[in-house]
Amino acid sequence: MRTGPPIRPVVIAHRGASGYLPEHTLQAKALAYKMGADYLEQDVVATLDDELVVLHDIHLDRVTDVASFYPRRCRDDGRFYARDFALEEIRQLSAHERTNADGSLVYPGRYEGEGEQFRVHTFAEELSFIARLQSDGGRPVGIYPEIKSPAWHLSEGVDISALFLDLLREFGFESHSDPVYVQCFDDQELIRIRNTLGCSLKLIQLIGENSWREAKTDYEALWTEDGLQRLSSTVDGIGPWINQLYRIRPDGEIDNTGAVARAHKYGLAVHPFTFRKDDLPQGFESFEQLLQFATHELSVDGLFTDFPDLALPSPGP
Ligand code: CA
Repeated sequence: MRTGPPIRPVVIAHRGASGYLPEHTLQAKALAYKMGADYLEQDVVATLDDELVVLHDIHLDRVTDVASFYPRRCRDDGRFYARDFALEEIRQLSAHERTNADGSLVYPGRYEGEGEQFRVHTFAEELSFIARLQSDGGRPVGIYPEIKSPAWHLSEGVDISALFLDLLREFGFESHSDPVYVQCFDDQELIRIRNTLGCSLKLIQLIGENSWREAKTDYEALWTEDGLQRLSSTVDGIGPWINQLYRIRPDGEIDNTGAVARAHKYGLAVHPFTFRKDDLPQGFESFEQLLQFATHELSVDGLFTDFPDLALPSPGP
């Protein structure tokens, strides 16, 4: 049982300060660093030539101009896969604010400048950039990389987790005390990463909804006592969808479901996603209300946010 005042949750800059600048650009990472984020997030996917790039999706079409640059390079489903392009081809693309399939902005009101100054970069480039930010900025910051769709990558002929861990090792990230959380939606892959690939880094099991089909993982089973106990033998914490941690009463009041406390009982840290002021979870009326609830009612240990500045205490006078 925890006592005393709540501890400030660690703030994970979700795709960088992506509420202000296009997601996963180095500019969005630099801004999040300047805002004081504790961790900078990377999503990692593999290219045709087995390079690792920082992209949220295995597709390029919602955040770059790939469809106009290489119009005939989509698959039968109409999507443009990073795995079908060499790194040097991806480097030609301009990155922009996330769009829907019809080209409209997912988050209207966010940055709408011309996109030509934004690029997709490699995971190695981002790790070098973050090292430079820290040496210039004089403040340490952690990294919070996610291995995207490892089973899909394996079916495409690449063991993305092995490449990913090799790269982290090259940058000196290999022990449990290093400022790194490795996250993945795939529970079997996390077991492989810990037991077969021998990774000592802190690991986070992301928990979505089974309907999202992010992985073959049964997320509902992970929330049972057996599920949490099993997780605690592999990972250091969980990254659940925030909606799984509360319920809305008929009178509109919001109740804690006790899910965070159950995870804490098994020693698991809880870092829910995603805190957005322009896309609040159902039942919340402001970012401040959400933050207050997460900190004081749920006692989360960390949180993913597109707006790191709003989740951090204001700087003193
Ligand atoms: Ca992610």
